[in-house]
Amino acid sequence: MSNQGKQIELPASLTVRELAQRLNTSPIAVIKELMANGVMANINQQIDFDTAEIVAAEMGYEVVRPHAEEKAGGGLKDLPRWRQVIAKEKPDNLISRPPVVTILGHVDHGKTTLLDAIRHTNVAGGEAGGITQHIGAYQVEHQGRLITFLDTPGHAAFTAMRARGAQGADIVILVVAADDGVMPQTREAIDHAKAAQVPIIVALNKMDKPNANPERVKQQLADTGLVPDEWDGDTMVVPISAKQRQGLDDLMEAILLVADTLDILANPDGTVVGTVIEARRDKGRGVVATLLVQNGTLRMGQTILAGNTYGKLRAMFDFRGKKVRKAGPSTPVSVMGLRDVPQAGDLFEVVENERKAREIVAQRAEQVAQSAQRKQTISLEQLFEQMQSGDVNELRLIVKVDVQGSLEPVVSSLEDLSTDELKINVLHASTGNISENDVMLATASNAVVIGFNVQADAPARKLAETEGVSIRTYTIIYHMLEDVEKALRGLLGPEYEEEVIGHAEVRAVFPVRGGQVAGCRVLDGVIRRNAKARLKRGTKTVYDGEIASLKHHQEDVREMRQGFECGINLKNVNEYQIGDIIECYVVKEKED
Ligand code: GDP
Repeated sequence: MSNQGKQIELPASLTVRELAQRLNTSPIAVIKELMANGVMANINQQIDFDTAEIVAAEMGYEVVRPHAEEKAGGGLKDLPRWRQVIAKEKPDNLISRPPVVTILGHVDHGKTTLLDAIRHTNVAGGEAGGITQHIGAYQVEHQGRLITFLDTPGHAAFTAMRARGAQGADIVILVVAADDGVMPQTREAIDHAKAAQVPIIVALNKMDKPNANPERVKQQLADTGLVPDEWDGDTMVVPISAKQRQGLDDLMEAILLVADTLDILANPDGTVVGTVIEARRDKGRGVVATLLVQNGTLRMGQTILAGNTYGKLRAMFDFRGKKVRKAGPSTPVSVMGLRDVPQAGDLFEVVENERKAREIVAQRAEQVAQSAQRKQTISLEQLFEQMQSGDVNELRLIVKVDVQGSLEPVVSSLEDLSTDELKINVLHASTGNISENDVMLATASNAVVIGFNVQADAPARKLAETEGVSIRTYTIIYHMLEDVEKALRGLLGPEYEEEVIGHAEVRAVFPVRGGQVAGCRVLDGVIRRNAKARLKRGTKTVYDGEIASLKHHQEDVREMRQGFECGINLKNVNEYQIGDIIECYVVKEKED
C-alpha cells in the first residue's frame, strides 16, 4: 500500500472524521475499517488512541505515540474557519473579546436551569425580569466584563457546529449533578470538548440536595482525566445550585479566570465571519437567524452568505430584542433578510453584493451535485459488478422506528422476507429519527435506511443526497414489507436465457495471416456478427465465444441469412475442419 511506512502522530482521542482527515481518506473508509474490526462508530464519534492506531496500521501507517503535552498543535488548516480568519489578522489589530461559553452535560443535570439562572441574575444592563426572548444566545456582565452564553443546551447543536468545523465556543461548562455523578452523556460531552480543544469548567450542580456527594463526583471526574484543581489538577470544579441560584458568581469568576489564560481575541475592524446559532422561518418576519459574530463587525444593510443561502440584512436585534445597527466580535444578534433558512453551525461571511452571493451559492450547489453524481455512479457500478459476479446476495438495512415496542416486530417481519437466495440483513436497528449517523452507516455498508413512523432530519437528508443513500419512510407496516419485497426482487436482477438463432456449416478452410477462416454456408436462421457462437465438431463443442469477423465476398457484413455463403472467423480460433458446425446464439433477459 502506498502509505506503507508513513509515520503519523495521533492524539489520545479523536473523532472518526478527524482520523479520516489525518489518514487522507474518507470517513467512510475509516468506518468500514472500524466495522471490520467489530467497532460500530459514526462519523462524529470519538475513538481512542488504541482504536485509531489499529485503523491507521491497517491502512499502512506507522503510528507514533502522542506527546505527553499534546496541545493545539496542528496547522492552521486544522482550525475551524473562523479561527483561521482570526489567525490571519495582523496581531497588532487583535483585541480581547468576550469569551463564548457553551453548557453541556447529562440530561436532567440542570443545564436549562443553570442557563435560566445565569440569565436572570447576571444579564447585562440589569433588564433581567423583562426578558422573554430566546434567540439561542445571550450575554451577561460580570465585574464589568461581558460573557456570551450559547443558550442551546444539549450537545446536538454543539456537535453540529463542531462537525462543520465551526466550533463556536471558547469554554465549555460541564454540568454534573452532585447527586448523580458522571453519566454517559457527561463522558460524551468531555470527549466533544477535548476533541474541540476547548477547556472545561465543571459546574457541580444540585449541591442543595441532601444526597449530594461532591467527593465521589470529583473522583469520577479525575478518573475521566479531569483532575480537580484542589487535587492539584487543572480543572476548575465549582459547586453550585442552579435551582437556588447559589455559586453563580463563583462560576462567572471561574469563566473569567480561564478566559484570561486563553487568547480570546478578534479584530473588530477585520474580515467579518461568524457562526449561525439557530434559524427558523417566521410567519410574519420571514427567515430569522441568530448569528454569533466571531471576527469583524457585522452591520445593517450588509449582504451575508450563510451556508447555502444569502441575503441583505434588513433588521438586526440583540438578545433583548432591541434594534441594533452593528455587532462586534462575540456578539449574538438576531437578523432578518436571509432568503432561506441556514443550518445551525453554518459559517457566515459578508460578501460584496447579492449577485456575488448568488454566484458562490451556485458554485457550491454545483460542487455538491457533482460529487453526488460521482458517488452514485460509482456505487451503482460496483453494485452491478457485484451482482454479476454473484457477490451480492443480501439486502442490508438500517432500521429506525418510533418506539421501542415496534422495534422487534418491524425487524423480525423484515427478516422474514429473506429467501434462500437473498438474505435481509438488518445491520442496525434503533428508535428515533433517521440521523446523519444512520446515513453514514448506510453509506459505509451499502445499505438502505428504512424508517417506520419516523422522519429523516435535515442533515441526514442532505447527506443521503450527497452520498446517494436511499432513505425510505413508512407509516404502514404492510407498505414497508411490500416495498422491501420489491427491492429484493430488484436485487435478484433479471434472469438470462439463450436463444439459438442460426447454424452454419464449414465447407472450406482458407489460410489467412495468423490462422484460418472458415468458408461456410448458413444452414438455417441467421449468423450475426455481434452475436455469440459455438464451434461444434461432431458431438463436441470445441469452442464457445464470439464472432471476430463475418464476411461476404471479402466485404464485412452484419448478418448472413440461410442459404448464403460467408467467411466466418471466431475470436481466438485458429483451426477449423470441414464439416464443423458454427452455432450462433444470443443471450437475452428472460421474461416472466
Ligand atoms: P437539563 O436536562 O440538564 O436541562 O436539566 P434541567 O435544567 O431541565 O433540570 C432537571 C431537573 O433538575 C429539574 O427538575 C430542575 O428543577 C432540577 N434542578 C436543576 N438544578 C437543580 C439544583 O441545583 N438543585 C435541585 N435540587 N434541583 C435542580
